Amino acid sequence: ERKAALAAATGPGATSDGHKVPLLANIGGPADVPAAVEAGAEGVGLFRTEFLFLDDSQNAPSEEKQVTAYRQVLEAFPEGRVVVRVLDAGADKPLDFLTPGDEPNPALGVRGLRTLLDHPDVLRTQLTALAKAAEGLPVYLEVMAPMVADRADAKAFADACREAGLRAKFGAMVEIPSAALRARSVLQEVEFLSLGTNDLAQYTFAADRQVGAVSRLQDPWQPALLDLVALSAEAAKAEGKSCGVCGEAASDPLLACVLTGLGVTSLSMGAASLPYVRATLAKFTLAQCERAAAAARAADSAEEARNAAQAVLSGE
Ligand code: PEP
Ligand code: MG
Repeated sequence: ERKAALAAATGPGATSDGHKVPLLANIGGPADVPAAVEAGAEGVGLFRTEFLFLDDSQNAPSEEKQVTAYRQVLEAFPEGRVVVRVLDAGADKPLDFLTPGDEPNPALGVRGLRTLLDHPDVLRTQLTALAKAAEGLPVYLEVMAPMVADRADAKAFADACREAGLRAKFGAMVEIPSAALRARSVLQEVEFLSLGTNDLAQYTFAADRQVGAVSRLQDPWQPALLDLVALSAEAAKAEGKSCGVCGEAASDPLLACVLTGLGVTSLSMGAASLPYVRATLAKFTLAQCERAAAAARAADSAEEARNAAQAVLSGE
């Protein structure tokens, strides 16, 4: 029965009453594209470009090498959306030649956009490669920065994109609570938000995502995390802009419904989760998702939030 339900659910992501929620894929490189296409992804919501930098621990990949890899991904989604995240080095993704090795708290140190602003040549090469890769293709390219803390970060990134001649939408990942709390301010500089709920949970709960002993606090059902998602989505709506989720939270079918109810405009996940999320979302109306979201936010723990949402959606 489960199999039949999954097979029946194809096509674009939507609630049962037709509220569209594009379902996109998280990929790490061209090798992940076939699975994304097979799962019916409407595009790529998070292209983690770190993989390109793993071959050589001392140098950034050449512009030419980057153009080739980006083009392979862009060509796979003609007319589709591809959201590329610029290099997120540092903390859980250290790179020898970019990441300071002497930080007492790497997750709170130079990582993500901070690394790139310290190495403008690396950012420039990546943005130029993206501009060249997209040339002449009908794809709808969006480029976003990891670890944006405030409006100044968003502006520095948007300026770098403009200087590189990139014709794309520029966005900011919301992974730091300050960016969620002041999302409208960040949105003065960029055209979209994408919530990285893995890091947003880490920084909201002061719980290192790599430390198993505090993994309880990494649960994306935590009501405090849902509040920050809601703030970001409401800010984007007020500014007439989009706010997606590309962290692990989007791959939990029930939570995907709650995120939709909070006002999130797209969901990006590993290809394997996509059919399940599509099938579950298609069972409920937007109003049901909104009620589930309100019930989850009214809870006092992740477990209560999950149970409350489940109760609403199963009609209890
Ligand atoms: C996140 O932090 O939720 C995210 C999508 O980025 P990454 O897991 O690559 O840090
Ligand atoms: Mg992250």
